[in-house]
Amino acid sequence: MRMTDLIERASNAVDTRRVVDLTRALCGVRWDDPQAEGPRAEIIAGALEQAGVDVHIADVVEGRPNVIARVPGEGKRPPLVLQGHIDAGIYPSGWTRDPDDPWEDGGKLYGGGITDMLGGVAAMVAAVEAAPAFGPLPGDLLLHATMYHNGSGLGAKYALKTEGPSEGYGICGEPSDLDIHTANGGAFKFEIRLTGTSQHVSRMESAVDTLGPAVAVYDKLVDHRFAHEAEARLPDLPRLLIGELHAGEAPAAVAESATIRGDLRYVPGMNRSEVRQEILDIVESVTPDDVGRRVRIIGLHQPFLGATAGPLIDAITSAQTRILGSVPRVTNELPGQSFVTDAADLVAAGLETVVYGVGSWYYAPDEWVYIDHLAGSARVYLAVAALLGADS
Ligand SMILES: [Zn+2]
Repeated sequence: MRMTDLIERASNAVDTRRVVDLTRALCGVRWDDPQAEGPRAEIIAGALEQAGVDVHIADVVEGRPNVIARVPGEGKRPPLVLQGHIDAGIYPSGWTRDPDDPWEDGGKLYGGGITDMLGGVAAMVAAVEAAPAFGPLPGDLLLHATMYHNGSGLGAKYALKTEGPSEGYGICGEPSDLDIHTANGGAFKFEIRLTGTSQHVSRMESAVDTLGPAVAVYDKLVDHRFAHEAEARLPDLPRLLIGELHAGEAPAAVAESATIRGDLRYVPGMNRSEVRQEILDIVESVTPDDVGRRVRIIGLHQPFLGATAGPLIDAITSAQTRILGSVPRVTNELPGQSFVTDAADLVAAGLETVVYGVGSWYYAPDEWVYIDHLAGSARVYLAVAALLGADS
């Protein structure tokens, strides 16, 4: 069958209202609760069971499952994995309506967690759900809807370790606004702890303050250039943010302890020990010797460097061009460059991987996706599964 016919058939196999309904159902589960992974997994598995897809819910830790589904193909190519996380991200306040009750307006669908990335997951589920009726695919189509991206990416790592595959293709459906991302930085989350002694303002000379030193550390660190070899595909990294400073107990008492937490988005080649030492050197250079200092790296995401050309990018480009009438850009500009994704784990498992999904990297109240992009991305996912390995 000709490529354009395959794309047309895949496009016709996905129903826009169905993608919207799946998204609404996933966003309708209480969105500020990480344990909502369980109810979301039930929604996904229920839909796929209904469609006759082989699907499993696997608890990674109690009550926090992955959903793994497989549509067997004809074995003409290795598997294609559609991967997305079912925990939702950081939530700003200020919604004009209930984020747990998604709504449509002007071609947009609004809902809590819809961009990162419940809309993307729903599009992937809709593609897999439509696959049996579409007919035989050249190779297996897998869904990894995974728990606990925020923090460690545990769900994606566990799924790949226990289920495979170890070759083939991966699409991580994080919000790329339908661009194709082939790289993003890693992340070191760090914590600096300063300890001193407290006294009332009347005896402050005999205390060891930590708040002043903590501010000095902040000032020095935000201007620091970390040692690294530039990565041409990640030109805006490394990039550091200090997001937390906690110190002191009372207005009239010297701050006995201070804690600073931050996040360094880094390029390949930078390592945890050296980064920690660099931070410690700064802390020691700007704090008095009688202040206790401790630096820990408390979180780690690996950077992602994927292929910049090949059959996967070709298939996405052909499908989107035909289905949505727009050519996806292959780009790693900000903000995508400084997000962390599970794409690094798909690459580590041996898969040719890109990030491609609906919506923008954007945390704000009243977050939304275009409904035609949402449904279009589901159509593209199924079309890519049909194109990869097809006889041309
Ligand atoms: Zn995400």
